[in-house]
Amino acid sequence: MFENKNNRTELNSLGEFGLINHIAQTVKIKNPETIKGIGDDAAVINSGNHHTVVTTDLLVEGIHFDLTYCPLKHLGYKSVVVNISDVYAMNAQPKQITISLALSNRFSLEAIEEFYEGVAMACNRYGVDLIGGDTTSSNSGLLISVTAIGIANADDLVYRNGANDTDLICVTGDLGAAYMGLQLLKREKEVFVANPNMQPEFNGYDYLLERQLKPEAQKQVIEALHDAKIKPTAMMDISDGLASELHHICKQSNVGCRIYEDKLPIDVKTHNLAEEFDFNPTTAALNGGEDYELLFTVPVTTFEVIKNIKDVHIIGHITDAVSGLYLNTTSNQSFEIKAQGWDALK
Ligand code: ADP
Ligand code: MG
Repeated sequence: MFENKNNRTELNSLGEFGLINHIAQTVKIKNPETIKGIGDDAAVINSGNHHTVVTTDLLVEGIHFDLTYCPLKHLGYKSVVVNISDVYAMNAQPKQITISLALSNRFSLEAIEEFYEGVAMACNRYGVDLIGGDTTSSNSGLLISVTAIGIANADDLVYRNGANDTDLICVTGDLGAAYMGLQLLKREKEVFVANPNMQPEFNGYDYLLERQLKPEAQKQVIEALHDAKIKPTAMMDISDGLASELHHICKQSNVGCRIYEDKLPIDVKTHNLAEEFDFNPTTAALNGGEDYELLFTVPVTTFEVIKNIKDVHIIGHITDAVSGLYLNTTSNQSFEIKAQGWDALK
């Protein structure tokens, strides 16, 4: 790893996932308790009676959030939810979180209290305990690092690598709304910067703003699948965009997929705003990101049960690996699905 000191490889030539793969290749697992290391929504540790899952996310001011339009209470809530979403994506129950902050004197005690009010709201909503963290100073904006811990029976855990040819592909809720909410916030910020007397025009778009500023994790779908005795073959949460997440599942499961544009769940508000912005709603659904919905696959034999579960939409099916990843459009054309979602290094 420390050879070739004279060569310089630009990180953007690897991209975020190329870099993570590169790091993963240098890691050798030493402990038999480490069941799953780098590569899934959360790591998995054998804790004896049960398995423990651990996941962490770093949110950076100016990259992941903009305090001019993101209230601190919402930010606290969202910081917790995005981590809990990764715990549910393993089919595990979230139990504890830690929160680390790097901040400056720009923040008052009242501001930090507001942030932790949001944290507490999310902790109450999802039944998790805040058990620690770290606090330090920053001279480059606010940094928030949250780690979530959950538990599951070994047999209940769902990884990204279990999808099989002919499995149904399902997503929860609707897609693209958080992305369109962000476009709206950015537009109104520009208007405000140009003329501070102008009031932002958010009428009728509450749903999109909420999806961006205060997302939820898909607790109820995990419970409904459990009640229906359906265990997905593969699962992950949709944080970087459906297209990118399909690539992760197909690559790790060594399969392909075919999804159908007319089956993609897109809210009418997402459609309307996309139209106003002259933006293709399907692109928002495929590449927008920050939906925090679940993407999962189930055996085709579960069809009669899965089709009746609330908030679950069947969008296509798994194929063999050589068939690739394809989208059938409403005009019955077939397009290869490119992973153009969020990439931290591009
Ligand atoms: P998610 O979108 O579900 O949060 P990521 O794409 O952030 O997942 O991460 C994918 C995998 O790579 C996870 O297992 C994560 O723990 C691991 N990972 C990400 N960044 C690093 C890093 N800098 N060092 C080691 N592992 C990492
Ligand atoms: Mg995830």
